[in-house]
This record gives sequence, structure tokens and C-alpha cells, in this order.
Amino acid sequence: MQKVDLAVIGGGASGLAAALAAAEAAQTKKISIAVLEKNPRVGKKLLLTGNGHCNLTNRAAGSPSHYHGDPGALAVLNRFPPEQILSLFQKLGLLCRELDGGRIYPYSLQAPSALNLLRRGLEQRGVKTLCGFDVKSVRKADGGFQISSPAGELLARRTILAAGGAACPRSGSDGCGFALAEALGHSVTPTYPALVPVKTDPVRVRPLKGVRCPALASFRLGGKSVRTSGGEVQFTESALSGICIFELSRCFGELRAPRDAEISLDLFPEYPGKKLEQMLCAAANGNRALSAPELLEGFLPKALGIELARYALGGGSKQAGALKPEDLVRLASAAKQFCFPVRGTFSWDRAQVTAGGVPLSELTGQLESKKCPGLYLCGELLDVDGDCGGFNLNWAWASGLTAGKAAVHRLK
Ligand SMILES: Cc1cc2nc3c(=O)[nH]c(=O)nc-3n(C[C@H](O)[C@H](O)[C@H](O)COP(=O)(O)OP(=O)(O)OC[C@H]3O[C@@H](n4cnc5c(N)ncnc54)[C@H](O)[C@@H]3O)c2cc1C
Repeated sequence: MQKVDLAVIGGGASGLAAALAAAEAAQTKKISIAVLEKNPRVGKKLLLTGNGHCNLTNRAAGSPSHYHGDPGALAVLNRFPPEQILSLFQKLGLLCRELDGGRIYPYSLQAPSALNLLRRGLEQRGVKTLCGFDVKSVRKADGGFQISSPAGELLARRTILAAGGAACPRSGSDGCGFALAEALGHSVTPTYPALVPVKTDPVRVRPLKGVRCPALASFRLGGKSVRTSGGEVQFTESALSGICIFELSRCFGELRAPRDAEISLDLFPEYPGKKLEQMLCAAANGNRALSAPELLEGFLPKALGIELARYALGGGSKQAGALKPEDLVRLASAAKQFCFPVRGTFSWDRAQVTAGGVPLSELTGQLESKKCPGLYLCGELLDVDGDCGGFNLNWAWASGLTAGKAAVHRLK
């Protein structure tokens, strides 16, 4: 049976970072490290990130307000602030650029730039990559862990489990990492898709299909706002999408699929309701022959104006001159609270990240398992997920670096 000092299960962002940190920490010590990846190549999901541009991290990635799940993540994030993540990539030879909202990308805006440098960095440091190695079981054995796959068996003195969550299964992370962790004594908090479109009543959104509009979106339960996020909302055949909707989507799983949830859109967040009412009133007085949707055309995309008029007034054919003051109040109020029922979220295949996972309370501060010493866990497998904007990759790098460094320290 092949033997290695350290096996890293999963060649995604966190596994590659863990292997790199381990190889760096090993320095001149001869420590054999192997990355075991089920796909024919490592980093498949990394190539999909940021629409292929790879939003590596974010200037604000040290702030706990961008993360959800286990608060224990903060200590790990503090150990590797975004500047340190950037200097790791700089050391590998990657030039980066910062775009709006503190989002950091490879300067080339090409995900392969980051992945190829990571792969080369591992090669140069003597890390072996075994692709097509689909790990089916990990068992405690004399002297370490026995790792089995249809491609063969491996004995490792230490193991890092970096098999990802359940989001985007076509990339390789299909939730099997949770089963491997459970078999080694860990629990897994309920998991649900996050950063995913939110399903709503198709009758309401179908006429708006293809429309994009900036708004302040709120996830509401029983009429009360639970979370708010601003940005561009995209309307599709049966769902609301766009980054701000993605950021609200985890509320649905977090609140255990509530029946009376809704998403409320403030289509004019810059204007208080009264001001909007006055503006609509002025526009109506100056254009008395216009219908309500025609009036709204000066304020919103045409299709949105038609639907808003229907939503507020139950029909859009009234001429502006025929609109009573209370109609304008209703239009303004509907524009500030344009509500859509929440019918669920899309599933794992459309999700960017997994909410829930292995609790950090089952690990030491260095991400070593308290249930199974010698085993380390990192990445999306843990109960930590972030907002859009580079926060999830930042968690993958920071947790991978922590686990890799610690695993080798124990070996040395
Ligand atoms: C479309 C999309 C776009 C995204 N864009 C961004 C972005 O721009 N910025 C950002 O911060 N985050 C982004 N994310 C989220 C981010 O990519 C993930 O959170 C991050 O990749 C998680 O890293 P990981 O190493 O934990 O898991 P993964 O990257 O999923 O890696 C896990 C690896 O383990 C392998 N594996 C699984 N099981 C086994 C097994 N049994 N045996 C062997 N190998 C196994 C998988 O094949 C995979 O390669 C995006 C996600 C998606 C789906």
C-alpha cells in the first residue's frame, strides 16, 4: 500500500491552499504530501468562480459581518487577513487587481491564472497530485488513516479533509465530504443551498422576465424584515435573482422553509415614500393624458412600471389625470414595498455555497478534529459560509492554510 505523511482529500481551493501551506511549513524536512482529487484535474470549481474571473478575496474579508454559520470562524479569519492571502498569491507570481466593493481578482481576470500558479507552486514544492482518486472511505488505522478509493488504497499519517460542501455538484463537491466526516465521528448541522436564486410565484414574475433593476431587497417574515441587501435584482421565469437576492436566499433555509416569507423590493431606496409620492404627483399633473404605466415609464423599466401599476391599482389603464391622490399614494407605497412570495430556493445545482456543515466546536483552533486526532478539516465542509464578493474563497484559503500548517507542525 502506498504511504504518505500527509494526504489532502480534495483538490479545490481549500485543499490546494492546505497542501501549499503544508509544503511550505515542511521546509527542508522530507515530508511526503499528496492531494487526492476525484476529478481528472484539480480546481474545477475554482475555474467557475466569479463568472470565470475568480473573485479571490475581498478587502473586507476580515469582517465577521460577511460570514454566517459558526462564529468560531473569526479566529481562523483573523489569522489570515486578506493582505496575507494576497501576499501568498503574490509569492506564487500572481498580480491582482481590486474592483468595486473591495473585490480582488487576478489582474488577468482569468481564473486559470490563479489555478495554474497554485498547481505549479505545489509541483515545485514536491506535492504529488493523484487525480481520479475518488475517496470512498477513510478509516483510523495503525499509524494513521487508511484511505480507500476504486483507484487504490493509501496509508497517511495525517489527513486533511477538504472535500467541499454540496453546492454545484458538477464541480465534484457533491456532499460526500459530509459522509466521510460523519464516519470519522463528526456531526453535521443541517445543510441548505445559499447564494442561490429565490423561487416565487411565476404568474407574478413571468411578465418581468429579463428585467434588471437596482433595488433594496428585504427578506420578510410575518411582515417584518429579517435581512436586507441592496443591488441589481434580476427577474426570471419563476424566480428572483441577482447578487442581493443571493445574499437573502440563505434566510429561507436558516428559518426552516417558512410558509409566509416574502421578498420586498424598495425600487426607490434613495427617496422616502413622501418624496416619491410628490414626484409622482408632479409627473401626473404635468402629463394628464398618460396612463399609470406610461407615467411610471419615466421612473422604471417599462415592464416593471406595467406590473407595479397592476400590483398597486389592480390594473394599469387609468389615465394619469384620472388618478386620484390616493392612487398615487398607493403607487408610491407599492414601489417602496413591491412584494413577492417566497416559494423556496433553487437547489444545489444552482447554489454557489453550502450553509451548514461540520461545527467548529468539534475542532481545535488549528482545525484539528477533537473526535479523531490527526484529522484536519477545512473549507466549505465546515459550518461557515460568506456573502458574495470573494468571502467564500477567502474562507477556503484561510482555513486551508491553517489546517495545512498545523498538520505539518504536528508531523515535524
Ligand atoms: C459558480 C460558482 C461561482 C463562485 N464564485 C465565487 C467567487 O467568485 N468568489 C468566492 O469567494 N467564492 C465563489 N464561489 C464559492 C467558492 O468557489 C467555494 O466556496 C470554494 O471553492 C470552496 O472551496 P473548497 O475547497 O472547500 O471546496 P471545493 O472547491 O468544492 O473543492 C472540493 C474538492 O474536493 C473534491 N472531492 C470531493 N469529494 C471527494 C472525494 N470523495 N474524493 C476525492 N476528491 C473529492 C471535489 O472534486 C473538489 O475538487 C463560487 C461557487 C460557485 C459554484
